[in-house]
Amino acid sequence: SDSRIKIRKRNDEVYDLTVNINKMLDRMQAYTNQQKEFVEDVSHELRTPVAVLEGHLSMLQRWGKDDPEVLNDSINSSLQELKRMQSLIQEMLDLTRVEQIDSDYLDQTTEIKPLFTQVYNDFKMIHTDFVINFDDDIREGSMVKIYRNHLEQVLVILLDNAFKYSADRKEISLSASTNSEVLEIAVQDYGLGIAKNDVKRIFNRFYRVDKARSRKRGGNGLGLSIAKRLVEIYHGTLEVESVVGSGTVFRIELPLVQDSDEENDSEEKAK
Ligand code: ADP
Repeated sequence: SDSRIKIRKRNDEVYDLTVNINKMLDRMQAYTNQQKEFVEDVSHELRTPVAVLEGHLSMLQRWGKDDPEVLNDSINSSLQELKRMQSLIQEMLDLTRVEQIDSDYLDQTTEIKPLFTQVYNDFKMIHTDFVINFDDDIREGSMVKIYRNHLEQVLVILLDNAFKYSADRKEISLSASTNSEVLEIAVQDYGLGIAKNDVKRIFNRFYRVDKARSRKRGGNGLGLSIAKRLVEIYHGTLEVESVVGSGTVFRIELPLVQDSDEENDSEEKAK
């Protein structure tokens, strides 16, 4: 880019320094571009709810307030729109926080079995109209390398989606297993599914396959980007397989604490 320093002669310290400075400038430029894009996306996303609110208020001001039914409907829609903006703001804060997770969190570990069972019980209580298959093949005492609340947040995002995008078949499957190195969790639904072309984009922020439909279901298109960033920060993976009309499965893989990790820890401490 323009800010880069031009160099003619190589083979000296100035050259090395210049290369490093240019690399740094590139990174700063990329960061600035990302921020700019984010602000553009946010403004775009806020435009719709603001326009809807304005529409209702000006209609009420002109004539709507004289008709009790219109007045009531309009107030309800406006409140709903405000709630959407609140959830959008909350999710945007979540997304920025993910980018600034500090090292205190990164060193944390979580016993997976109790958390997994608790999340299942929570959802079973909320969604009594669903059949939730639960398959826990986690070795007793397994510790996974992620901060508890972050893993819970990821599971909640995937499960919320599984329920949200289910169609007539009110069934979800939640399973987890461990081998010696990793934990794998699968969240499966038998709902709408996602087309091949969309699958590539669903982890992008603000991306929704069907804007209108997702909006109705309260979606901002941020959940999956938050989930993916969180998992990746802890050196895990989040992947998806989907067939339109028959359902979707999201798979999380995260590294487990190894016996050798603890040995290293105690060696560290002994030093
Ligand atoms: P949203 O808040 O809109 O659900 P997400 O980032 O969580 O945002 O998901 C992005 C989009 O991916 C959703 O709008 C939806 O179109 C699609 N999607 C996510 N999960 C599923 C699922 N389980 N089944 C079908 N489509 C899904």
